[in-house]
Amino acid sequence: MGDKDSVEKYLENNPQFAKEYFDKKLRPELITTAFTENLEIKDPTSFKDVSQIQEANIIFDLVKEMQSQIVMEKALHKVLQRVCMILNADRCSYFDLRSRNGIPELTTMLFNVTPSTKFEENLVNPTGEIVFPIDMGVVGYTAHSKKMQNIPDVTKNNRFSDFVDKQTGYKTKNMITYPIMAEKECLGVVMALNKIGAEEFSKADEEVLLWSASKVFEELTDIERQFHKALYTVRIYLNCERYSVGLLDMTKEKEFYDEWPVKLGDVPPYSGPKTPDGREVIFYKIIDYLLEGPKEEIKVIPGPPIDHWALVSGLPTYVSENGFICNMMNVAADEYFTFQKEAVDESGFVIKNVLSLPIVNKKEEIVGIATFFNRKDGKPFDEHDEQITEALTQFLGWSVLNCDTYDRLNRMEWRKDIAQEMLMCQTRCTNTEMQSILEKFDAEPEDCDQKEMYKLLRSNCPVAVDVDLLLFSFSDFPVTEHGLIMCGIRCFFELNVVEKFKVPAETLTRWMYTVRKGYRDITYHNWRHGFNVGQTMFCLLQTGRLRKYYSDLDAFAMVAAAFCHDIDHRGTNNLYQTNGSPLAKLHGSSIMERHHLEYSKTLMAEESLNIFVNLQKRQFETVQHLFDVCIIATDLALYFKKRTMFQNIVNATEPMETEKDKIEHISNNAIRKEIIMAMMMTGCDLSAITKPWEVQSKVALMVAAEFWEQGDLERTVLDQQPIPMMDRNCAAELPKMQCGFIQFVCSFVYKEFSRFHVEITPMFDGLNNNLKNWKELADIHAAKMAAIEEEKKKLEAPAGNI
Ligand SMILES: [Zn+2]
Repeated sequence: MGDKDSVEKYLENNPQFAKEYFDKKLRPELITTAFTENLEIKDPTSFKDVSQIQEANIIFDLVKEMQSQIVMEKALHKVLQRVCMILNADRCSYFDLRSRNGIPELTTMLFNVTPSTKFEENLVNPTGEIVFPIDMGVVGYTAHSKKMQNIPDVTKNNRFSDFVDKQTGYKTKNMITYPIMAEKECLGVVMALNKIGAEEFSKADEEVLLWSASKVFEELTDIERQFHKALYTVRIYLNCERYSVGLLDMTKEKEFYDEWPVKLGDVPPYSGPKTPDGREVIFYKIIDYLLEGPKEEIKVIPGPPIDHWALVSGLPTYVSENGFICNMMNVAADEYFTFQKEAVDESGFVIKNVLSLPIVNKKEEIVGIATFFNRKDGKPFDEHDEQITEALTQFLGWSVLNCDTYDRLNRMEWRKDIAQEMLMCQTRCTNTEMQSILEKFDAEPEDCDQKEMYKLLRSNCPVAVDVDLLLFSFSDFPVTEHGLIMCGIRCFFELNVVEKFKVPAETLTRWMYTVRKGYRDITYHNWRHGFNVGQTMFCLLQTGRLRKYYSDLDAFAMVAAAFCHDIDHRGTNNLYQTNGSPLAKLHGSSIMERHHLEYSKTLMAEESLNIFVNLQKRQFETVQHLFDVCIIATDLALYFKKRTMFQNIVNATEPMETEKDKIEHISNNAIRKEIIMAMMMTGCDLSAITKPWEVQSKVALMVAAEFWEQGDLERTVLDQQPIPMMDRNCAAELPKMQCGFIQFVCSFVYKEFSRFHVEITPMFDGLNNNLKNWKELADIHAAKMAAIEEEKKKLEAPAGNI
């Protein structure tokens, strides 16, 4: 068999042959096999009895077959090879979880993969499969429990079953397994056997597996790519000159920050067209298939303009609004829609007739609009076209663009489970740990007098001035991680919120300690970073005097949220990377930030950890909302949305004469308060860039190191070249990158804040000082590079002359 690419290429270049081939050969064959299952047919060798829709269904089944199988297995094989290499495992396998007659079973799909084995050797053909139920062995248990299993010694594990070893003659000593999940469903299990050079698989191995498994997951859910492939493959059946698919935004509720401009009155509320289920009609992406010329062309346009040739008539919007199929025989004569009468672009293409249909998912929501232009034979679209295209759009809507996938990418609710799980098993503060801060704490809080406890706790925490807690130039370097927990508690006492909101001393201690434990031991996004952000928030409120716009409850929530804002961050190389899931990126769904938020809220949900336990219901709801705003605000993507809004507030208050006017302008407006709060979070999150040079130069290296670790993983696990920011081979470019980051992102934040409140100027000064230092280093590097270039030229020049 020739390789798939060359076959595909040949078919693409010879559409006539392809069409004839499919017509003559494949269709009857396919019909014969496909029909035995879902469709009934009198004579399997002819397809006279097959209705057009049935015919279309079969074509789409074929498409589905073509795109899903081999490609996925090959990708998996590559990942397994890399996993094997990184884990230093003797071999890896993948078991597919499927269901037969409703009973789940596991089967070997890729078996005994090593870094050097070939795909064909490892791919198990159906006759050689080993099949077993999910209540058997470690692999079965992994699929069943949906949890990673790391077994240091299989002889000591009562779940281990040696029946595969018996069949193959292999001796398993230790193993690690991981379930590949899509939503809450297990798709299969990755297994690595016998660590080379060690007795067992390590914690670091677990992380690698977790990470690479997420890459497989991405491979499987890259729905836009699948969608595109399906459409592209069926183009020979769509007898038209062009077609265009518009994908609709599925967001039902707007994010709080998108409501800001409306609530501020800067933008009128939306009054445009809406889908039947109430969404605003927004085409976030258009894919145009231009088939009329000698060379087919496909154009993908993210965020298409309203005057895009396929949208400008208003027809796709109309179809989105009411869900009708619209067949327009002669667009020139139509009065309702404004089709362009002349050529739509330089190709000279003129629209004559159009067929437009909604793509509907299983929940009957319109997910996109497919519009077909000009039948190639010059005739208008007829009923047959309507049927075949309807079947196509139905297929796309049901099996590829299904709403669950959107929901999954947008909401990521399953992450809640992860947070809960982690919290319960590892991160909750123990009583012994409590006693390391609140010495005389005994496990029965009702015995203790709260006033006494406050006194005790206060006396154990460092005094604010002693550790520079109120300075923007605060550095965590001289303080231990344990010491930072106490500094955190001190902040709340300084804010005067502990007594006021009746936070039990032991709850505050336990919460702060648990937050600390929620941060992982990684290079940059660790507890020290979490603490620094909380401390800067505290400083902006107190030293920067921003507190006057906020209530005590606001201030309490803001500082607490700041401490939590990156909790359970896994470094840049983590499961929550939006990398490879374009939908998540497009919808700006702040995936990582949502996880930190969920985690923080899980803490609040447990009474013994809930520092807001004695608030009234309304107050508690306020706190929850402020957590939403503060933590989601740390998504830098959002920063660009709020810049101008923040600047407008600064501009408006600048000419105000009295402080009273300023306070009124802001305090009486919940939205302005939120915008400033969100910008404060950005100011806190980036604050390392404003610290004294000794601190900044070290922290910048830590940030870079975390990126480089991800770059290394990409290079080794995925065989991909990382982007320069993540490539340790580009380390020399760091000063230049820092300069860019300061100028394009950070400068605005601190400049505007110092204009807003002069007390915040030390941050801006610190930033400028660091810019100067980075620039010097960048210049030195540039000069070095220039000298090398010069040398090179000198060496090359004589050779050129000879
Ligand atoms: Zn952060």
